[in-house]
Amino acid sequence: MEEKVSMDINTKAVHVGDRRKPGTYVPVTTPIYTAATYIYDNVETLDKVFSHEIEGYAYARYDNPNNSGLEELCASLENGHGALTCASGMAALQLALSAVLVDRRKHVLAASALYGATTNLLMNVFAPFGTETTFVDITDLAAVEEAILENKPGCILMETVSNPLLRVGDIAKIGALARANNAALLVDNTFSTPMIVRPLELGAHVVVHSLTKYLSGHGDTMGGVIVSDSEHFEAIRSMSRTYGPILGAFDSYLCFRGAKTFPLRMERICANAIEVARFLEKHPAIERVHFPDQADHPDRETIARQFTAGLYGGIVSFDVKGADKQGIMTFMDRLKLIVRGTSLGDVHSLMLYPLIASHRDLSPKQRQRQGIHDNLVRLSVGIESAADICADLDQALR
Ligand SMILES: *Cc1c(COP(=O)(O)O)cnc(C)c1O
Repeated sequence: MEEKVSMDINTKAVHVGDRRKPGTYVPVTTPIYTAATYIYDNVETLDKVFSHEIEGYAYARYDNPNNSGLEELCASLENGHGALTCASGMAALQLALSAVLVDRRKHVLAASALYGATTNLLMNVFAPFGTETTFVDITDLAAVEEAILENKPGCILMETVSNPLLRVGDIAKIGALARANNAALLVDNTFSTPMIVRPLELGAHVVVHSLTKYLSGHGDTMGGVIVSDSEHFEAIRSMSRTYGPILGAFDSYLCFRGAKTFPLRMERICANAIEVARFLEKHPAIERVHFPDQADHPDRETIARQFTAGLYGGIVSFDVKGADKQGIMTFMDRLKLIVRGTSLGDVHSLMLYPLIASHRDLSPKQRQRQGIHDNLVRLSVGIESAADICADLDQALR
């Protein structure tokens, strides 16, 4: 309140002390803006903000200073034209898919080994509204090309690294195929982060992240972000203003705070993951390890071209020799340091059992066909000491 007007206690309670104008100071971090509405000295200015004649905030469903800051950061990390934050990774995927399909054929060509909820999104949300999906092995370029010619998809949807077997599709080549066939290439880059792969630089049109994972990194918030090229950004932003899947200011603050240390965490996580993979490869209780730096990895040539040298991500998947479901449960119950649960990309190491979590809804046959055996577990390596992570695995494997 600037001017003195007479107020009784009810009026005071609502107005006194609020809407103080900042002085010449600037807080060293962006404060949390919970305001639903923004006001100006006069209505004419507000009118110009609404008409986009001048930059400013009007209503929190459109944007707010926390999300604007986080969006500027994410667009910069991915080298994109613009970014839009959402309440979760799934909200970002839904919005991104809707936006790229607006003026394209309502058919998605999707990688067959997608994050479970993404497959559900296609089958249970998009299919009932008339968008068909065809699944393809995204690492088989000939199959991808054939499926494009046959289905004429409006969108190709893939993940930088597949879950949980860590297969890697060729973004540059698939991007070229997409461009030649008027399809948008949408890449979920959650597993790799812009430290390791920047899909827009390779030819993708739109990138999506679950901010819940590596970018926020502490397991204390949810969020999603879409980063796109200039062609798709306005459609994404204007659709968001109508849909309203926005990231709340508190979560936005946590994501922004976490993202500041993301490169440091990622460097440590990647170095730890290499050590853990080497340790498991030598361990007598382990049948097989999946990790992108292996010399016999089926996608090693794509990985060499696509990944930042020396960084392979923080996920290590492995088959425990001779273990059935009960054996895996016993092994996981013995872990003392590594957290048992779902999610990934946190400061703490976390183990997930695909059979009971991410791939629970698949039939045993579907799992078998994807190579997800009953003795497979997925480890998201954290920033602890690699020696301590290995020691915990070792004692649990005895
Ligand atoms: C977690 C995850 C999502 C979904 O993100 P939420 O923030 O949980 O909605 C999408 N894709 C991948 C690869 C993920 O790991």
